Amino acid sequence: MSDHADEVVVLEPDGLVENGIGRGAPQREQLHALLAMGHSQLERWFPGLTNELTEAGAQLGTGAAIQFYIDGALKTEVPDLRMIGATRSFIEAHVRRRLSDLPNVSIRAGQARDLIIKGSRVCGVRFSSVEGTPPTSTIPDGELDADLVVDAMGRSTRLGTWLQHHGWDPAPLDRMRVDLGYATATFHRGNELPGTVIAHATPGPASAYQPALSEPGALAAVEGNRWTVVLAGYTDYRPGRDPEEFLTRMRRCVAPLQMVADQCAMDGEVKTYHFRESIRRDYTRLTRLPGGLVAVGDSVASVNPIYGQGLTLAALQASALSAYLRRSAYPHSPAWEYFRLAGAVVSAAWQLSATADLAQPHVTGPYPQGYRLIRWVSDKITSASVIDPVVNQTFMDVLHMRAHPRNLTHPRVLLRASRVLLTR
Ligand SMILES: Cc1cc2nc3c(=O)[nH]c(=O)nc-3n(C[C@H](O)[C@H](O)[C@H](O)COP(=O)(O)OP(=O)(O)OC[C@H]3O[C@@H](n4cnc5c(N)ncnc54)[C@H](O)[C@@H]3O)c2cc1C
Repeated sequence: MSDHADEVVVLEPDGLVENGIGRGAPQREQLHALLAMGHSQLERWFPGLTNELTEAGAQLGTGAAIQFYIDGALKTEVPDLRMIGATRSFIEAHVRRRLSDLPNVSIRAGQARDLIIKGSRVCGVRFSSVEGTPPTSTIPDGELDADLVVDAMGRSTRLGTWLQHHGWDPAPLDRMRVDLGYATATFHRGNELPGTVIAHATPGPASAYQPALSEPGALAAVEGNRWTVVLAGYTDYRPGRDPEEFLTRMRRCVAPLQMVADQCAMDGEVKTYHFRESIRRDYTRLTRLPGGLVAVGDSVASVNPIYGQGLTLAALQASALSAYLRRSAYPHSPAWEYFRLAGAVVSAAWQLSATADLAQPHVTGPYPQGYRLIRWVSDKITSASVIDPVVNQTFMDVLHMRAHPRNLTHPRVLLRASRVLLTR
């Protein structure tokens, strides 16, 4: 936004808190993996950010330092993959500092309460100041005029209600039950796993027949010489807060997590989070939209976090917004073109997570057309990606949102996967 506007005001209930940890976004305590595409988008918008993060203690992983396991089997390495090992709060604090360095951006403490709509366009927001937070800058309750209002209020956004209140339709909502439990704990990091920055274990096709192959979980080497470890489980198998249970489950996961459980001391409590459903608000299906309004991030789509897409999706939407504004879009017009651009990215992320989620017995739809075939092909590609570096490169490019999921069904990839599996 700062490249396109004279002035950008970020309204945030927590204002500019020192360490980036505010009360909003309670999920920020959970391990957040920044996919390769998200990382390059952040570096694009904040050049030098990677160096800044690593100088302050984050770990940069490439090649063999990034380990992906499926059904307990280690996949072949992807040489051009780069991932940052850092907590979300740490990355967020650095991004916020870089934002606040921009001369035309101010971050103010305040909670948006409603849109101001005149005629067919949004021309500002009503807000209230927030009690109980120590803001670094405060503004009295009131109104902010704006040529363009961006809803970045996360998955609990009230934008739909506000639009309805002003006589406009809210965006149609798609939902898919997920019922996923997350638990994150931090450990002191020594020299137990030299050369490991990220280790990530997910169930694959074989887990449908042999559920005990490996617990789903991940670890990241993060700033402050610590490991952050996350465990996940669906429905009744959601991980709890008990540290002993956490360690037991880590020992049923892949080797790096077992090693950390055995050799490192836990630092602090186990923090849990219950993610009930993926949601998507599809603005492209509206027939009327006021001008001067766009939405980004979880306020548009919040998908099963196990695939680590959320931050990258938000970064790609920011890029879509920039592309839209760069084409001299008039901010007072309805932003159909923006929602079309951003919708393409959202659909790709939704397709990837929904296809995988529908394999869970407790997820009962909605099924896309041809789901059985999609599932069958997707299982075969996943199995081939464990043993073949070429199929794995495409698989990981899609997983890291560097390529559209349709690349997985390109005839070249299908042929290669069939050959690999038949040879095996
Ligand atoms: C358990 C869990 C694990 C996850 N793991 C990953 C991962 O590994 N990798 C990944 O990329 N993503 C992950 N995600 C997803 C990621 O957290 C979200 O996609 C991301 O936070 C979306 O960013 P956002 O800015 O849109 O929303 P949020 O981060 O939720 O931020 C919304 C902001 O809006 C503010 N706000 C809310 N209401 C108002 C208001 N009325 N006025 C002003 N401000 C307001 C809040 O204070 C908050 O700061 C995970 C999510 C969960 C739940």
